[in-house]
Amino acid sequence: MSEKKEKKYSDIEIFRRAIMLSRPYWMHIILIFLLGLLATPLALLVPVPLKIVVDSVIGANPLPKLLSFFIPQAILADKARLLLFAVFMQIAVVLLMQLQSLISYVMQTYTGTRLTLSFRKRLFGHIQRLSFAFHDKRGTSDSIYRIQYDTPSLEYISLYGMIPLVASSLTLVVMVYVIMRINIQLALVALTVTPIVATMSRLYSVRMRPHYTRVKKTESHVLGIIQEVMTAFRVVKAFGREETEEERFEQQSHEAVGQRTWLSFAEGLFGLATNVTTAVGTALVLYIGVRNVQAGAISLGTMLMVISYLAQLYGPLNNVVTKVAGMQSSFASAHRAFELMDEVPDVVEKPHARHIKRARGDIAFKNVYFSYDGTNNVLHDISFEVKAGTRVGIAGRTGAGKSTLVSLMPRFYDPSAGSILIDGIDVRDYRLAELRNQFSIVLQEPVLFAASIRENIAYASPLAHEDQIIDAARAANAHDFIMGLPEKYETLVGERGMRLSGGERQRISLARAFLKNAPILLLDEPTSSVDNATESLIMDAMERLMKNRTTFMIAHRLSTLDTCDIRLEMEEGKIISNNISSPIKG
Ligand code: ATP
Ligand code: MG
Repeated sequence: MSEKKEKKYSDIEIFRRAIMLSRPYWMHIILIFLLGLLATPLALLVPVPLKIVVDSVIGANPLPKLLSFFIPQAILADKARLLLFAVFMQIAVVLLMQLQSLISYVMQTYTGTRLTLSFRKRLFGHIQRLSFAFHDKRGTSDSIYRIQYDTPSLEYISLYGMIPLVASSLTLVVMVYVIMRINIQLALVALTVTPIVATMSRLYSVRMRPHYTRVKKTESHVLGIIQEVMTAFRVVKAFGREETEEERFEQQSHEAVGQRTWLSFAEGLFGLATNVTTAVGTALVLYIGVRNVQAGAISLGTMLMVISYLAQLYGPLNNVVTKVAGMQSSFASAHRAFELMDEVPDVVEKPHARHIKRARGDIAFKNVYFSYDGTNNVLHDISFEVKAGTRVGIAGRTGAGKSTLVSLMPRFYDPSAGSILIDGIDVRDYRLAELRNQFSIVLQEPVLFAASIRENIAYASPLAHEDQIIDAARAANAHDFIMGLPEKYETLVGERGMRLSGGERQRISLARAFLKNAPILLLDEPTSSVDNATESLIMDAMERLMKNRTTFMIAHRLSTLDTCDIRLEMEEGKIISNNISSPIKG
């Protein structure tokens, strides 16, 4: 899906969306920003004690007017007191700076993690709404990577990128102004390096973005290998393919390692280049400054102060450019996350969809065609009508399209032509959740959760009473084997229910469907994994459950369908025979 129509978002677009998503936290962000602004005046105070000591304690110059305004006369008059004042000021400034950074740090972590969490939650919600078709095609690991590893980009852009960027830019402007006020010539010398650094940063960003995108793709492939092997663990072992899988994993990981290392090198090189450039600036100021001091144009204290401010000027400058460069990785991630976010579900609910409380259960297919890939039809012109309460059996060879036909009713997929009606209304007109609530489904491959048997049976009805759970288990002929387990209903079934046998899994998923009291039952080979004796026991119990419910039951064994009122026989996506004309019960 993404291969064909790769969306492109501009930096501005990504910024805009990051800001939109951060909106609920704007109070926090402004607070963090204001705290960040405090850094500038605090930084300005750093060299002041030194200046006082050099010029006014050791030397005999008076303090600058602004300073003497804040310091009591008693201290100003006495050099020993002034020295003590300078010493304490040194400590106080550091203490204030550290306090400011501590509070900022905690606030950033708090806001950042919440931002990421809320973005992750939205993405997770979104992929759950995407269609089967999307997930069949995309695979799970890429979506996992995007949700888990690409979402923190929002936090990096909004908090660790944008705020320091604005704050550093402000500091930069203030520092330029301050140095200019002290000595315009030195300020101009200091600023000569700025355009060079800015150009380097721009070049770096443009060049590096594609590399970040690529490394993320490689890493999600690595995740994919692990995920695939873990889900197909039994097959891997059965065919002795562990080593091949390891090699595949290692090769992909190596590629990722190589790309990451290269990126670190490029990032480091960029840092080195910018820092050396600014060091050249400092050296120039030092040279010209000393010349000026020797010529008596400026005082030694002034020069030392300018040099000290220079660090405060180049610090933010380096900060700005490395932030811009470092954000390339986040932009690449944000791009991937937004791409997933903008994936439109194939199966959508209409704006003013109808409510449906409990369907009667009349079902009609009208000239339904369906294709998974848009070209080859898996279902051809399917039409039939059944009244509520009918038991419909579907038989046919493997691959005939039986499961596909059944999956169209709860809208796991939508037909490519034709329509499906429930109680005379197109299924696409109902609210999606309410429509699906009309079905109890037993899938062809039973899927259980890594939880207890009780939780698995009660999955769709968490409030079900103990008796109801046991009744459902009895109907599915599962109660006896469950009672034979050491922990009975509390037995944990393992991941995907792997600690149970195939027939046991199937019976639990049957019990789950029975417990959900829905008007339409869809059973895709519900007894394929159990022996004949168990099957007839289950079928007997099911008689009761199928009463007053429309049931669709798929089976290979025709004997299983004996109890059905209607039998549809499918071949290559068509219904080749039915007995609908015969008297219909129900
Ligand atoms: P079985 O008795 O083996 O379960 P079935 O009658 O249920 O078979 P379906 O699962 O409906 O058959 O499949 C019908 C056709 O659609 C098959 O040719 C299959 O290859 C194809 N098909 C099934 N699921 C998908 C899918 N998710 N994506 C693409 N093609 C699919
Ligand atoms: Mg099937």
